[in-house]
Amino acid sequence: MKRTITHLADGRELIYFDLRDDADRSAIDRRTLDPRPVASELRYDPLTEEWIAIAGHRQTRTHQPTGTAAECPLCPSSDARSTEIPAYDYDVVVFENRFPSFSGNFGTYEAVGGLSEVRPGVGRCEVVCFTSEHSSSFSQLSDAQVELVMEAWADRTAELSAIEGVEQVFCFENRGSEIGITLAHPHGQIYAYPYVTPRTKLQLGAASRYTKGNLFADVLAAEREAGARVVASNELWTAFVPAAARWPFEVHVYPHRQVPDLAALTEAERAAFAPLYTSLLRAFDGLFGVVMPYIAAWHQAPVRQGRELAYLHLELFSIRRAPEKLKYLAGSESAMGAFVNDVLPEEAARMLRSQIDH
Ligand SMILES: [Zn+2]
Repeated sequence: MKRTITHLADGRELIYFDLRDDADRSAIDRRTLDPRPVASELRYDPLTEEWIAIAGHRQTRTHQPTGTAAECPLCPSSDARSTEIPAYDYDVVVFENRFPSFSGNFGTYEAVGGLSEVRPGVGRCEVVCFTSEHSSSFSQLSDAQVELVMEAWADRTAELSAIEGVEQVFCFENRGSEIGITLAHPHGQIYAYPYVTPRTKLQLGAASRYTKGNLFADVLAAEREAGARVVASNELWTAFVPAAARWPFEVHVYPHRQVPDLAALTEAERAAFAPLYTSLLRAFDGLFGVVMPYIAAWHQAPVRQGRELAYLHLELFSIRRAPEKLKYLAGSESAMGAFVNDVLPEEAARMLRSQIDH
């Protein structure tokens, strides 16, 4: 694997991850770009004890073009067109988001009154292009490509964790126009937050109150033992529908060894994850014979807190519950955070298992 750091015309960092050691990464960004916007501000909600990022500048960002490769900013550049990636080809590339929710580029923030504390949205947001092929998808990547993406995630997790003020690194993929993705090109994002996210806080709180061992490890062991909701497994990983799934199709993927984050996975663990995960994604697409919109979320230990309690795992879920039906977060979920799931988790697991190619 070869890693090359370069910079875009407005100073943002761009990093190539190449399978081949002889890849030429000398191309420069020929565009003229506006200066980078300042970071969002964080406001504290004293009632929920959560930080909310207010990113006013994101409203003014240019609407990104849809669909075709001819106008895609994530395709490689060509003689005729300069994109976000100066090179004419790439394997995996990571760069700083042009309109980030969090960045190191912050102005001054004044008190806003009320009981809300305000501070700058320190951190970083990056885009990860999984392949240069516009019409591909994560599910179509080869094992070697998936392993390269995992190396990139591990690299970014370690680097971003070292930024002053960063408390948690989140690698994720949003896929599908149904969940608001306007760029069809296979890509994901990485958020380096200046606080521990609400969901991680909840999970670690539960783990700290559990006294029989490691809560995550025991959930995994119990699901493997029960078996009814296991969708796929190999020697090093298990994928299962959680007993109390929130989403119509939701699968959690755990390594069998407790590690805090992606940077702590071994080469063997990365290699074993690749075929299991892509077969899972293909099973998602096979359910209804239509592209499944999904969110794939890596839960990693925070940078400083609860690292011994946390357990790296991926939570993958779709909002599609039937060929032409989507689950929307309406009153109960959005207003009260109280989920109602119309699909029995055991049935979801059975449907997904039947789609797994062995
Ligand atoms: Zn593209």
